[in-house]
Amino acid sequence: MTITKSYVAKSVEQMRPSGIRKFFDLAATMDGVVSLGVGEPDFVTSWSVREAAINSLERGFTSYTANAGLIELRQEIARYMSDRFHVHYSPKEEIIVTVGASQALDIAIRAITDPGDEIIVVEPCFVSYAPLVELAGGRAVTIGTTGDTGFKLQPEQLEAAITDKTKAILLCYPNNPTGTQLDRDDLEAIAEMVKKYDLLVIADEIYAELAYDQAHTSIASLEGMRGRTILINGFSKGFAMTGWRLGFTCAPEEISSAMLKIHQYAMMCASTPAQYAALEALQHGMGDVESMKKDYRQRRNYMVQSFKEIGLDCHLPGGAFYVFPSIQSTGLTSEQFAEKLLLEEKVAVVPGSVFGAGGEGYIRCSYASSMSQLQEAVKRISRFIENNTK
Ligand code: PMP
Repeated sequence: MTITKSYVAKSVEQMRPSGIRKFFDLAATMDGVVSLGVGEPDFVTSWSVREAAINSLERGFTSYTANAGLIELRQEIARYMSDRFHVHYSPKEEIIVTVGASQALDIAIRAITDPGDEIIVVEPCFVSYAPLVELAGGRAVTIGTTGDTGFKLQPEQLEAAITDKTKAILLCYPNNPTGTQLDRDDLEAIAEMVKKYDLLVIADEIYAELAYDQAHTSIASLEGMRGRTILINGFSKGFAMTGWRLGFTCAPEEISSAMLKIHQYAMMCASTPAQYAALEALQHGMGDVESMKKDYRQRRNYMVQSFKEIGLDCHLPGGAFYVFPSIQSTGLTSEQFAEKLLLEEKVAVVPGSVFGAGGEGYIRCSYASSMSQLQEAVKRISRFIENNTK
């Protein structure tokens, strides 16, 4: 019998593919492209970390771990989170090792979302948030932050978006794509609103190690927020371990148990060799994190300075590895800009519009690239702006 219908779920059919992919696919067909497009470290994972994974395999550690992850790793995560961010979680009941921050986000959202629940998503943001909320049966209510506030969420904006269906707010600082970091006062103001309306925060702090001007403050460390926060973190960015697919959640026991139910059925556990690698990263890898961070900081300063010299407005991002300059002076949309720049000068950047409200008029440039690549990109962008503003 011939197939006469689509078996794909409506919720998936309606999903738009990630806007980032389109540019990567186009760039992949061209030679000599300088890419500021990808959101991953250009560094290779430290050798001692790779070696720890190799050693674990040599010792024959090839079975599943506990669903929530190796207990030694969870203990080390608890110590790390307490030392670095002054948040305290029980390794047994409140920490789950996940397949990247990506899966951590998925189980966090699914664990708290009933059909029709609203989750506030602050844009511009990482492209997965709204689709994950929709897949969980919730409704993503988006708020657009703007360049004139350095893309900092304003508490009044948050208050205006809250309804009696609001369950949680999803925050990401340091931010992808803007690099914006919130300081303690900014976070306090948001936390007040969260407590006033009895909400939960999903805090994606995957870039917490990459905060350049002051130590990262975790929203969970603020008074009264530990019980209202699901912390998402991981090894991809600060530890340069994207391909290992390892992240974690820290949350109060009730929510952790709920997330663990989903995790145990959907994933069983994260990869065992990757967990041994992560253990080594936490025990001995902080020196390498600091040294990568030093390089990123230098590159950030170079990129912001260069964009200013080219004549593009660019706020100084406090963290992550992205700059988000305005291209409004060119009169092009961000998508037109990115496409034209790729075709004319072979530089790949990501149009701000793919990151949602507030992103139009900007481009995301990742500086997780060598200084020589960044210098080449700046040279080409400068020529492009000259040719396009006559
Ligand atoms: N959150 C943000 C804000 C990100 O930028 C990314 C990766 N680009 C992720 C989560 C996913 O990270 P992971 O590789 O740990 O799944």
